[in-house]
Amino acid sequence: MFNALVIDKDDKGYRTVQSRVDPAHLPEGDVLIDVEHSTLNYKDALAITGKGPVVRQFPMIPGIDLSGIVRESRHPDFKAGDAVIMNGWGAGETHWGGMAQKAKVQGDWLIRRPAAITSEQAMAIGTAGYTAMLCVMALQKHGLEAGDGDVLVTGAAGGVGSVAVALLSTLGYRVVASTGRPEEADYLKRLGAADIIDRNTLSVPGKPLAKERWAGAVDSVGSHTLVNVCAGTRYGGIVAACGLAQGMDFPATVAPFILRGITLAGIDSVYCPRKHRQSAWDAIARDLDPAKLAVIGQKIISLEQTLAVASELLAGKVRGRVVVDVNR
Ligand code: NAP
Repeated sequence: MFNALVIDKDDKGYRTVQSRVDPAHLPEGDVLIDVEHSTLNYKDALAITGKGPVVRQFPMIPGIDLSGIVRESRHPDFKAGDAVIMNGWGAGETHWGGMAQKAKVQGDWLIRRPAAITSEQAMAIGTAGYTAMLCVMALQKHGLEAGDGDVLVTGAAGGVGSVAVALLSTLGYRVVASTGRPEEADYLKRLGAADIIDRNTLSVPGKPLAKERWAGAVDSVGSHTLVNVCAGTRYGGIVAACGLAQGMDFPATVAPFILRGITLAGIDSVYCPRKHRQSAWDAIARDLDPAKLAVIGQKIISLEQTLAVASELLAGKVRGRVVVDVNR
């Protein structure tokens, strides 16, 4: 038997409890993992509290991220003792996720945890940090180089934004951070932002084309913000879009695309191919300064504490990343 957080829904209602689970009930998969850590993401908090329709089948173990050690493997690329990470692939939604001492998954979903990153750090980085790196890689693939001009990061004080600011500044880019929290200016500067702008300057409807300010951008906000970011991107520039914190809409014109030749790169972390994921995690190991990860900060909690912290997270009372130590 192993400890897990289990979400259930039946005629008694929607509930999440810490339970002892029989390993025989683990789902299909060719790799059995001794989980060390998981992350409490916004999506996990919605699933745990039942405040959002995240879980597609019951009973479900939440946790879209996990880090652990392979115990048994029938997959040719993994053997017992390998340190692995999993992000996405429906974990915590359609497949039992990381908030448990054991997980059984498809080996094709796993990547190797780079030696420079501890299990705890991997989960402090989590899907948010890995998505930030996918955005940075999209800018690099486009040919954007340090010294090309200002790179804007929206939602900068959030999970994706904070890691994007840290990565881009370490790589030598001049980063402008857009935030609605002026009290986080010092935090963003410690992560490497050169300038801070008020997110309200971007979040209301603007002109189809604005002054050319950004050589590139990482946007986790969507809606009018993404439209204005595209409108203010320089000729030939690139915007990596990964989020919808302001909204899923995109009330734009084609002007920035057909008159300035800008590129909008869509970023998905959930079903991103394995080779590209491994490159992203290897790049994180190389380019994410551990001192900046420490500035972002992390809170380490037990499975038992996860329920209460999930409610705090949804209420916006949690700063930094929340790592779940499943063996605590
Ligand atoms: P987060 O920690 O909640 O950060 C989101 C940030 O967006 C907030 O901190 C805030 O930044 C800003 N924001 C919130 N509401 C806003 C509004 N109404 N208007 C303008 N800005 C607003 O979330 P996250 O983990 O960084 O994720 C960011 C987004 O990316 C989410 O939409 C998430 O669903 C998405 N995401 C997508 C993928 C993918 O695979 N594509 C992966 C991970 C996350 P400030 O406080 O600095 O203003």
